[in-house]
Amino acid sequence: MPVPALAADCPEIPGAETALRPGAVVLLGELHGTAEAPRAAGDLVCRALQGGAPALVGLEIPRAEQGRLDAFLASDGGAAARAALLAGDFWRREDQDGRTSRAMAELLERLRGLRAEGARLTVLAIDEPAAAAGRDAAMAAALATAIGDAPPGGVTVVLTGNLHNRLAPGTPWDPEYEPMGLLLARRLSEAEIVSLELAHAGGAAWFCMGGGSCAAHSVRGSPAAAESGIEILLPEEREGTTGRYRIGPITASPPAIADPAAAAEDGASARLFRFEIDPRIALHHLLYQWARAEAGRGEEFWQVPLDVPERADADRLTPEQRARWEAALDVYRRHVIVQDLPFADDLLRLKNAIVRAEGEALPDPGFAPGWREAFAAALPVYREIWWPAHEARSRQWIETVRPLVDRHGDELARRVADTYAGAWPEEPIRVDVSPYASHHGAYTSTRPNHVTITNAEPSYAGESGLEMLFHEASHTPPLTQPLLRTLDEAFGDRRPPGDLWHVAIFVTAGELTRQVLAATVGERYTRYATAQSLDRGRWKPLFAALDDAWVPYLRGETTRTEAMAALVAALAAPDG
Ligand SMILES: [Zn+2]
Repeated sequence: MPVPALAADCPEIPGAETALRPGAVVLLGELHGTAEAPRAAGDLVCRALQGGAPALVGLEIPRAEQGRLDAFLASDGGAAARAALLAGDFWRREDQDGRTSRAMAELLERLRGLRAEGARLTVLAIDEPAAAAGRDAAMAAALATAIGDAPPGGVTVVLTGNLHNRLAPGTPWDPEYEPMGLLLARRLSEAEIVSLELAHAGGAAWFCMGGGSCAAHSVRGSPAAAESGIEILLPEEREGTTGRYRIGPITASPPAIADPAAAAEDGASARLFRFEIDPRIALHHLLYQWARAEAGRGEEFWQVPLDVPERADADRLTPEQRARWEAALDVYRRHVIVQDLPFADDLLRLKNAIVRAEGEALPDPGFAPGWREAFAAALPVYREIWWPAHEARSRQWIETVRPLVDRHGDELARRVADTYAGAWPEEPIRVDVSPYASHHGAYTSTRPNHVTITNAEPSYAGESGLEMLFHEASHTPPLTQPLLRTLDEAFGDRRPPGDLWHVAIFVTAGELTRQVLAATVGERYTRYATAQSLDRGRWKPLFAALDDAWVPYLRGETTRTEAMAALVAALAAPDG
C-alpha cells in the first residue's frame, strides 16, 4: 500500500535505486557524531518506504534500550515521550561517543513520524556491548533473526560505526577481526547485502578519543564526497564495501541530553569571551570579501582575494534585490576595499560603530559616501538570501567551540597570561562569529577588544577554533604589550625581527593548546601553524628559533629569562 504523504519529505538521493532493491540489506558505516550521517540514513529509509514496501532499521544501540525505543516510536513524540526515551542509561552515559547525539534523537523522531504516517517500519536496537561472542557476532545474529522474521520484499537499512558494516575481515591493527557485515553475509547467503561507507567532505564530528575525551573534533574528508549520492563500485574496485554514500561536508552533533548552546552562565567561556552572531557584522565582512573577489585585486593588495561561494547565489535575487545588492557592492568597491580591513583605522572605526549600534541606527562613516543607505538597503536582501545558513553555521561553530572553552579556557587563559607576564583583559572579549573575517580566518581590534572569526573554515573550528580564539585573545593589549616589552628588552639595540612577536603568539597558543588537550586527546592535536604550513614558509627561521628556545619554557623546562637569552642568541644580528 503506497504512503503518499511520505513523498514530500524524502530528498532525492542520486543512485539510491541501485541500493534499494526489494529484499536488499543496506549496511551504512558512519563516523559517529555528525548531523549528516543519521540524516542520510533517514533519507535512505524514507526513500525505501516511498514505494510502500516495509522497512527494517537496525541501529547500533544496546538491545536493553529496545523497550524505550518501541515506546517512543508508538508515542506522539511529545516532550514527555522524548524525556522517557532519553532517560535510558545509554543516552546518559559518561562517554558520549556520538551514537546518542541530537542527530540520532532526530532520526528516531523522524522514524516515529514516518510510522505515524502509516509506514510499515520496524526499528531494532542491535548492539550487545557485553556479548560473549563479540559485539559484531551479536549484531549480525540479531539482524539475521529480524530479517528472517520480516515480511518478504522489504528493505533493511542498518547504521553502525564504519568498521562493523564491512564485508571483509581484518583492520589495520587486527587481521583477525570479523565485522558484522561479513558475519551477516555468512548467515544470509541468499540476501543481497550492500555495504556503503558514508563518505564525507570533512568538517567536524562529536566523538571520543582515548582517555574519555568526548567532544567536537575537526575531521578531514574527501573533496570527492562533496556532492551527495550513492555510488556502487565495480566488483574489482571493492575493498570490504560495495560502494559509498557521499554525504557532503559534516558538522558535529552534540549529545542529545545536553544543550551546549545553553552553557552555564558562569562557565569559563562566559567569563573569558562573549560570543555574538550579528547579521550586520556578517554582511559587512561578506560585502568586503565579495567586492574584493569581484574587483580581482591580486597580491599587490595585501592578500589574494578569498573565494566567495555566495556569489554563485546571485541569480536567486529578484531584479529589485539585485539592484540594492549591486549598489552596496559598488560602495564597497569604490570606498571600502581600497583599505585593508584588519588594519585601516577607517575600517576598524566603521566595524566598531556597527558593533556599538546593536540594532540602532547605523553611523555615517565619513570616508564612504552613501555607505549607510546602501548598507541598510542591502541588509534585508542579505537576511533573506544568506543569513539563515550563515546564522546556523555560526551557532554550530559556537556549539562546538564553547564546550572546549568551558573545559580548557581557565587553564589556557592563566597560562597565556603567565607566559607573557601579562593579564587577561578585565572584560570578556567580544567574539563575533561571521561567515568571513579578514583575509585570514580571524582578526582582532582593540579599544574595545573585539575578535571577528570565521564560521566557514575547518582550520578555525573545533579544537583549532580553541587555539585560534586564544591566539586572537593574545592580540589584546594586556597580553601583547608585556610580550613586546620583554622582546624589546631582551634584544636591546639589536632589535627583535619584525614578526617575531606574532610568531611567538602562534607558537605559544599552539603549544599551550596542545598541552591542555594532551590530557584528554593525547598527542593527536596539530597546532594551526603546522596544519597550515605557516612554519614552513617565510617565517620558518622564526618558528625554528622559537621551537628551540621558547617551547622548552612553555614546557616548564627553562625560565623565561633563559628562553629569551637563547632566542636572542639564535636570532639577533651580531653586534656592530
Ligand atoms: Zn595573529
